[in-house]
Amino acid sequence: VTLMDINFINVSRYSFLKNIVYPAIEKNEKCFIVTANPEVVIETRDDPDFKTIVKQADYVVADGIGVVNASKFIKEPLKERVTGVDLMYDLLAYADQHQKRVFFLGASEVVNQKVVEIVKKDYPDLIVAGRRDGYFNRFDQSVTDQVVESNPDIVFVALGAKRQEGWIAHNLSNFDHGIFLGVGGSFDVLSG
Ligand code: UDP
Repeated sequence: VTLMDINFINVSRYSFLKNIVYPAIEKNEKCFIVTANPEVVIETRDDPDFKTIVKQADYVVADGIGVVNASKFIKEPLKERVTGVDLMYDLLAYADQHQKRVFFLGASEVVNQKVVEIVKKDYPDLIVAGRRDGYFNRFDQSVTDQVVESNPDIVFVALGAKRQEGWIAHNLSNFDHGIFLGVGGSFDVLSG
């Protein structure tokens, strides 16, 4: 479904994970997912560089009822909203069940530390590949190196909308596999 020149995948969250994301993890594929809410869609109109980045994503999912409503308006209804925070919780559970390696990039040092603490307790079989707070220069190579060297299956990037997609797009070529998901303020949610 195309809204303002952004192509959304029209799937339920369940189907997206079961048929696309989990198989991509098992096949060691690389996958860049953008969860786009109305603000993100508007931003692609106002910022051509950001639009280019969003267009590089393998999948753009509808994060927000505003996007779903817009799709109904053009009579191409999206099945449901698929939020970053929901995808993150599902992927945490999957990583726990399948002993996958997860990197947590972003948020303040305190929040980032707390997230990893909670994850280790609630998802004991998940492997924490690494963690790093989100306050660094976006071209800092040492951050990229740290994430690459941790050999992650899943990378959650919580740098805020735009910044996180920018980091993923800029660094993706350094990785040979992994699911890359911008999760906005989700670390703050998870850490309570
Ligand atoms: N954040 C970060 N580095 C930055 C800016 C923000 O790690 O340079 C984190 C911030 O701590 C929060 C998350 O990104 O955990 C989302 O931030 P915010 O709500 O400001 O972003 P939004 O998505 O609303 O633009």
